Amino acid sequence: MSNYDYDLFVIGAGSGGVRSARLAASLGKKVAVAEEFRAGGTCVIRGCVPKKYLVYGAEFGKAIKESSGYGWTVKGARFDWGTLRDQIQNELSRLSAIYEGVLERNGAEYFAERAELIGPHTLKLSKSGREITAKHILIATGGTPFVPEMTGKEFAITSDDAFLLDTLPERVMVIGGGYIASEFAGIFAGLGAKTMQVYRGDKLLRGFDEEVREAVGEGQVRNGIDLKFGQSPVSIKKIGNGYKVTFDDGSQVGTDLIMMATGRMPNTQGLGLEKAGVKLDKNGAVIVDAYSKSNVKHIYAVGDVTNRVNLTPVAIREGAAFVETVYKDNPTAYDHSDIASAVFTMPPVGVVGLSEEQANAEYKSIKVYKTGFRPMKNILSGSEHRCFMKLITTGKREKVIGVHIVGDYAGEIIQAVGIAVKAGITKAQFDATCAVHPTLAEELVTL
Ligand code: NDP
Repeated sequence: MSNYDYDLFVIGAGSGGVRSARLAASLGKKVAVAEEFRAGGTCVIRGCVPKKYLVYGAEFGKAIKESSGYGWTVKGARFDWGTLRDQIQNELSRLSAIYEGVLERNGAEYFAERAELIGPHTLKLSKSGREITAKHILIATGGTPFVPEMTGKEFAITSDDAFLLDTLPERVMVIGGGYIASEFAGIFAGLGAKTMQVYRGDKLLRGFDEEVREAVGEGQVRNGIDLKFGQSPVSIKKIGNGYKVTFDDGSQVGTDLIMMATGRMPNTQGLGLEKAGVKLDKNGAVIVDAYSKSNVKHIYAVGDVTNRVNLTPVAIREGAAFVETVYKDNPTAYDHSDIASAVFTMPPVGVVGLSEEQANAEYKSIKVYKTGFRPMKNILSGSEHRCFMKLITTGKREKVIGVHIVGDYAGEIIQAVGIAVKAGITKAQFDATCAVHPTLAEELVTL
C-alpha cells in the first residue's frame, strides 16, 4: 500500500467517473469518488435520460394526433406536465441510487460533497473540510451550460432547469441551433407549447452534413416550431409574467420562457487544478494526451471536461481505457473515429462518419448516394414528415465513410450501421445485404 489515503480519487460521479471508479475498485484498488450534486452526472440527472423521456412524452402527443388515419378516435386527450416531470424525477432518483450502489458494491467510497485540489496529490472536501491524499486523481467533472453575456440573462433558463419547470408555459423561446436547442424546441412544441427557436446561423446543427441540417430544419417547421435564423438576442426584459427579448436586428418578441441552449463549457472552475499544475486550454478544458493523461503525470481526465467528443458513451470508453492504462499495464488510447451518434429531434438524426463536406475536404474523390421519401407510416397518418438518407464512399473499393439518416428510429438504425462502418464496410457489402421489408432501414441496402 502506498503512502496515500487512496490509490484513486475521482472527482465527479457522472458516466466517465463512475465507470472508471467502479472498474478500478473491482481490481482491488482503494478508490473514492466525490460528487457535489447527484450520482449519475449530466447524462442521468439533467441530460440524455430525462431528455429522452421528454421526447417519448412528446411522441405520444404526435401519435395521438396522427392516429385518426389509422381509425382511432381519441377524445379528451390532454397533457399534464406535472405528471411527466414527476414520473421522470422519480425514475432519475432510482437511477442515481443505482449509480451510488454500483460504486459501493465494488468497494469504492462515495462522498456526497464537492472536492477540490489543494496540491498535486491532495484534495479537500467542501462540507467536512477533510483533506485526502491520492496516488492518482481523475477529473471527471463534465460540463456546464454556457450563457452569453447580455442584459437580463438571469431571466433565461438553461437545460439544467428545463426538467423541473413548475408548469409548461404557453409560449417558449429556445435560443441556439445545436443539439440541445433543437431537441428541446421539439420537446416543447411536441408537448403543446407555442415554440420559437432562434439561431444566429442559417441552418441548424452546425458541423453536421449540410443536407441533414436542411432536413432537420424542415422537420422542426413541420412540427410547428417558429424557426428564425440569422438572429441573436441582445437583451431580455421582464414584462408582467412574461419577457420581451430584443434581438441584434432590433426586433422584439414576447414569450413566457426563454431557454438558452448556447453551448456548454468544461466544468473546471474553482477545482484548484492550478494548485496541482494541471494545464487547461482556452475554453477551460483539461488538456490530455491520447491516454487521457494531463500534463501532470498522475492526474487524468475523461469525458466532457476534456472537450473531445462530448457524449456519454465516449466518456465511459475513455474511463475504461484509463483503467486499462493505469491499472492493467495495458496502455489504451480510445479511438475517437467513427463514433455513431443521434440527435433526438422529431424525427431524429443518426450519423456515423464524415459529412459530405468533411469527406470532400479529406479525400480526393468521394461518391454520394442519397434518397428522400415519405415513410410508409406517414401515408395513412397524413404526416408530412420525410426521411432522408445519405451514404458516402471513397476509393475504388467504395469504403463507406459516412452514413446520415434523418427519420424515425434513426438513432436505433445508426447504432447497427455504426458497427459495419467501424469495421470498414464497403458499398458492395451494403448492396449484398438482403433488405428487411418493409422497413425504413432497408433503403440503406438499395441505394
Ligand atoms: P452545441 O455546441 O451543439 O450548440 C450550441 C449552440 O449555441 C450553437 O447553435 C451555437 O451557434 C449557439 N451559440 C453559441 N454561442 C452563442 C451566442 N453567444 N449567441 C447565440 N448563439 C450562440 O451545444 P449544446 O449545448 O447544444 O450541446 C453541447 C454538447 O452536448 C453537444 O456538442 C453534444 O456533444 C452534447 N449533446 C449530445 C446530445 C446527443 O447526443 N443527442 C444531446 C445534447 C447534447 P453556432 O453554431 O453559430 O456556434
